[in-house]
Amino acid sequence: MSKQLEIPFEDIYEDCIMCGKKTTTLKTAHVDFRYGYVDGAGQLCRECYLGENRNLITVEGRTILDTPNDSELGAKVRELYWESKK
Ligand SMILES: [Zn+2]
Repeated sequence: MSKQLEIPFEDIYEDCIMCGKKTTTLKTAHVDFRYGYVDGAGQLCRECYLGENRNLITVEGRTILDTPNDSELGAKVRELYWESKK
């Protein structure tokens, strides 16, 4: 009697951090080769990555380091956010 090993389809793929849907990215894929991967946030599905509901912005590490004042940094991040909405 041999028992077939079943790997559930969804278990090998990453979940989208925004909508929670399964992405087409394998959990084993290296982040450098992933599509829709946001540094410091996680994996997005294609729809969220390309879609209007993408709600993530990227802040350069340089901006953070060059802005020791938190409220100034906050203003810059807010500016980046609105830039990304254009
Ligand atoms: Zn998604």
